[in-house]
Amino acid sequence: MGFNIAKTDKKRVVIIGGGFGGLKLANKLKGSNFQVVLIDKNNFHQFPPLLYQVASSGLEPGSIIFPFRKIFQKQKDFYFRMAEVKAVIAERNLIETSIGELSYDYLVIASGTITNFFGNKTIEEKALPMKTIQEALELRNTLLSNFEKATISTDPEEKQALMNVVIVGGGATGVEVSGVLAEMKRFVMPKDYPDLKQSDMNIYLIEGSPRLLGVMSTEASENAEKFLKEMGVNIILNKRVTDYQ
Ligand SMILES: Cc1cc2nc3c(=O)[nH]c(=O)nc-3n(C[C@H](O)[C@H](O)[C@H](O)COP(=O)(O)OP(=O)(O)OC[C@H]3O[C@@H](n4cnc5c(N)ncnc54)[C@H](O)[C@@H]3O)c2cc1C
Repeated sequence: MGFNIAKTDKKRVVIIGGGFGGLKLANKLKGSNFQVVLIDKNNFHQFPPLLYQVASSGLEPGSIIFPFRKIFQKQKDFYFRMAEVKAVIAERNLIETSIGELSYDYLVIASGTITNFFGNKTIEEKALPMKTIQEALELRNTLLSNFEKATISTDPEEKQALMNVVIVGGGATGVEVSGVLAEMKRFVMPKDYPDLKQSDMNIYLIEGSPRLLGVMSTEASENAEKFLKEMGVNIILNKRVTDYQ
């Protein structure tokens, strides 16, 4: 295996990651005097702001992922390769990937971030994060399969456990997810799951700091708290989740 990209007189720019950053740069380099190689472990770009809609079945995955090959169909001296980058050997201007090595003149690392579990190993192993389309789908499948199990459960305690959702972290993602789940409880559940009692589904949003949306204005925090409470979300502030069983 290898990249199968010919060396030309042009300098080669290798971009790792076709997220917002990598995609923008690759687009900007259109018509430039560089050979551009975009590498991503997926062959599609994903749009994180709408992941919560996929997680709650409001949108299908195809609505928020876009194939790189389609985006760059007409770009000259451009190569997309689906591969996972494993290492950068800066002194040799070389990267190591799942499909082999590639040399570069300029390297741009736009590989994004990973979910921060704040050192909590159990939560890292057991919880469902939501940073990729795969994770959003896992969340969606878990929610829907729990509702199916709750429909046939005759044990009230088990039913409750299957329907309770705890969201840890009151940043933008936690606020979005709890809001959309509250909508699901209110509008989807009565129609799609008529055997389940709406009041059996409890949504908890737990935040370690004194307010939701800590990086935004206090007005935004107050509004988010007010609206979510009105939608029936149980908000717990100033409490950190320390473990999970
Ligand atoms: C749920 C959620 C909602 C969000 N909502 C908003 C919003 O409403 N507005 C807003 O402005 N921002 C929002 N953000 C933040 C925004 O998505 C990020 O700031 C942005 O995606 C960062 O861009 P990036 O290019 O740095 O990385 P990313 O977009 O994360 O892209 C990284 C890319 O690198 C690839 N990659 C990673 N490692 C490797 C590797 N080793 N080899 C090959 N490829 C690799 C990945 O597959 C991915 O395609 C949200 C984020 C999340 C998770």
